[in-house]
Amino acid sequence: MSPEQTKKTYALKGLGVSPGVVIGKAYLFDPLDSNISFYRLKKSSSIPKEIERLKEALKESEKQLMEIQSKLKKSGVNEPLYIIDVHILILKDKKFTSRTIKYIKRMGINAEWAVRLTLDYYKEIFEQVGDAYIRERISDVQYVGHRILRNLSGEKREIILDIGGEVIVIAPDLSPADTAQMKMDKVIGFATDIGGKTSHTAIVSRAMELPAVAGLGNITQIVKTGDEVIVDGISGVVIVNPYPDVIKRYEEKKIHYSAIDEEYLKYAKLPAQTKDGYLLHIGGNIEFVEEIHSAVAHGAEHIGLYRTEFIYISRQDLPSEDEHVNNYLQIASAKELQWATIRTFDLGGDKIAPDQKHVKELNPQMGLRAIRFCLKEVELFKTQLRAIWRVSAAGNVRILFPMISGIEEIREAKKLLQEAREELLAQGVKIAPRMDIGAMIEVPAAVEIADELAKEVDFFSIGTNDLTQYALAIDRANERLTYLYEPLHPAILRMIKRVVDAAHAANIKVAMCGEMAGDPLYALILLGLQLDELSMNHLAIPRIKKVVRDATVEESKVLLKKALSFGTSQEVRAYVQEYMMKRFPDEFVCDDEQNLLNNHKKVLPAKK
Ligand code: PEP
Ligand code: MG
Repeated sequence: MSPEQTKKTYALKGLGVSPGVVIGKAYLFDPLDSNISFYRLKKSSSIPKEIERLKEALKESEKQLMEIQSKLKKSGVNEPLYIIDVHILILKDKKFTSRTIKYIKRMGINAEWAVRLTLDYYKEIFEQVGDAYIRERISDVQYVGHRILRNLSGEKREIILDIGGEVIVIAPDLSPADTAQMKMDKVIGFATDIGGKTSHTAIVSRAMELPAVAGLGNITQIVKTGDEVIVDGISGVVIVNPYPDVIKRYEEKKIHYSAIDEEYLKYAKLPAQTKDGYLLHIGGNIEFVEEIHSAVAHGAEHIGLYRTEFIYISRQDLPSEDEHVNNYLQIASAKELQWATIRTFDLGGDKIAPDQKHVKELNPQMGLRAIRFCLKEVELFKTQLRAIWRVSAAGNVRILFPMISGIEEIREAKKLLQEAREELLAQGVKIAPRMDIGAMIEVPAAVEIADELAKEVDFFSIGTNDLTQYALAIDRANERLTYLYEPLHPAILRMIKRVVDAAHAANIKVAMCGEMAGDPLYALILLGLQLDELSMNHLAIPRIKKVVRDATVEESKVLLKKALSFGTSQEVRAYVQEYMMKRFPDEFVCDDEQNLLNNHKKVLPAKK
């Protein structure tokens, strides 16, 4: 029996964060912990030397990051460079250093051990944060810690993927700096222990269009370098040392997916127009300006949602007006885009407030967030409003206010927008004569008063992620409640209908920018509801366009009518699913492996 045959087979289920299927050899990215020795110092006279060693390692780490940054800049890599800025900031953070020094002094331990303790301390703090995005930012601290450890241990090696040929990188999580040091032409996929849709691995892999699965829990404990691995970034399945018949099935699936992908891309540049002539405007949702290129390539005709709070979340100070302007200019001046919708900060509650005004709230999702936070922090808000006006002269820019729950809020926001405009005009700054103003409809109260709100704005954008959360009283980040989080709930469908009807009665356009907009399963329902614009994760665009182009509004209205006649979510879902599977059999691949795995991590029996 060869050693190959004795390898155990595992099937794991995580979160597909970048689509596609890939089969290849694993490369286990070693975060170096195993090579590091932790020990107590023999005598207290060694303490100053140990502190010096730490300081040297900090300096060396900073130097390396700056080198990587300039290398990235030179090669024009579009990965978010600001993340490396964040890492440099952590390195320079006085609290990080002083805590580590304190451990060396008080406990008489070596610098490696002290760094490890500091990392554990931050980990504990981050784990208590409710917001998933912020919680995931612990990875930034971890990357920096690993770099320091690497430098302490004297290892400065480039990450060479030296097992020959192409590899699938298996890691706890990856930073842009890690990936910048890899020979990326050799990497064909990623699988990580932690991370979600907004983790760096997810962002980088989507930007590079490599299949990736995150949130696998313990894949780094299971996989060894050289193991054969299948990564299915669509269903979120990873199979380690698969049986030959499973490999064969996935090879077929891979061919099927890439054929579909190529087929889909043909639809990227076509209009999403139904057979009976209804034109849906399709936009992309972005979190970073670096995503614009990929959004356009996948068929985004405009940006329907720019989540600007991402500029702010990853830094310790507030962006200046000029920094906002430079950032927004990149979207406003993108010639391929018909318009760019800049959403004002959706911050507050549990999201960071660098100027220490942050107060821990018991229920942050219902706290001082989004427009409420901005109306309280007027100066912060006006800086952003002035910046948005300033870029309005460079392109077709729309402004969108999040989480509006009453007329007073929209009037107050408009008043501040007007003030910002007058200030700029008084200074002789060139701005557009007018700008479309939109309200996000994501709070049930806004649905109820949609007719009144429609008199105040130029367009609505329905945020189904939050609307579903607030309407069904389900914390959208609570994985124990995912079974209840149902966009096809009759209440949600009726709410969307009310909003669209109110908007159209007032002659304004209505968009949808929640995740619901990018799922082809809902495409006909949304057509039937007569939405004017859909904005989504850009990888979803070609598929949505294909479905829409093959549909008619007439059939969509019939489907919607039937869906609205049911009293329960289950009935709606069963009906819509059956209809869509029959009507578009090629778009909805029935995933046998997913059924096999039954949505949970499973360890299959070892190969005989
Ligand atoms: C939404 O709530 O649907 C939305 C698009 O906004 P976010 O996901 O940023 O809250
Ligand atoms: Mg929202």
